[in-house]
Amino acid sequence: MTEVRSILRVVDPQTVREGAGVKLRRSIALPTLDNVDPFLLLDDFRSNNPADVLAGFPMHPHRGIETVTYMLAGNVAHRDSIGNAGVIGPGAVQWMTAGRGILHEEMPQPVAGILEGFQLWVNLPAAAKMIPPRYQEFYAEEIPELVTLAGARVRVVAGQVEGLRGPVTEIEIQPTYLDVSLPAGASFSLATPEDHAVLLYLFEGEAEMAGQWLQATRLVVFDAGNAVEIRAGASPARFLFIMGKPLREPIARYGPFVMNTREEIQQTLRELRSGVFPPT
Ligand code: MN
Repeated sequence: MTEVRSILRVVDPQTVREGAGVKLRRSIALPTLDNVDPFLLLDDFRSNNPADVLAGFPMHPHRGIETVTYMLAGNVAHRDSIGNAGVIGPGAVQWMTAGRGILHEEMPQPVAGILEGFQLWVNLPAAAKMIPPRYQEFYAEEIPELVTLAGARVRVVAGQVEGLRGPVTEIEIQPTYLDVSLPAGASFSLATPEDHAVLLYLFEGEAEMAGQWLQATRLVVFDAGNAVEIRAGASPARFLFIMGKPLREPIARYGPFVMNTREEIQQTLRELRSGVFPPT
């Protein structure tokens, strides 16, 4: 039986400064919303003012998590301690599994003054927090897109929609990550595993879900159920649709490190201070 999810929580993104001074809008990892298990952070760095973003994210460490960067416009240049370097361009995704440790740099490069993208942090289960780091990077043309019968244009970064599977695979929390555009009058519905956490980040226009009309820019956290239904009215809408399997494990977080215990955080800081981070 279909049980459409109702809305558990609507979050107004808060403006914060991160990295070397990047101005962005954060909707998970706030004093009022620490996490939505298994998701630890959601940042929106869309801006038409280069001064907001150019400071970037100089070389910094991560451990115990995955960072997912998805771009709409402009580029983010990156390089890291295991020898990768490249550019994440419009429509591309970088799914970075930090595992036991990585140092990397993420530097925005607006094009025509515009940079648009999002970063999601995904938790790793205790058993995978110390795995070797790895990357999955896909160009725009490698991310499949479909138009559903109900008129939704869907880019599938991870997960599956109407038999179309996204390129990001073998992630512990079995994620679905979609970029959904709804023209006026179109709708989007999807079956959602009952045990998954389900998020929607409405970043353009307005849409109706669970009997409620919402306007961009908002994060929606859905309640229990096995399906979602979202529709646009007289104007279009666009949103990220994200779901994954909760880990239900203790969270000890300190900046770019997310472990299970304070001792694991202390150990990480000791490694950093003594110059043996990231471990090889
Ligand atoms: Mn980073």
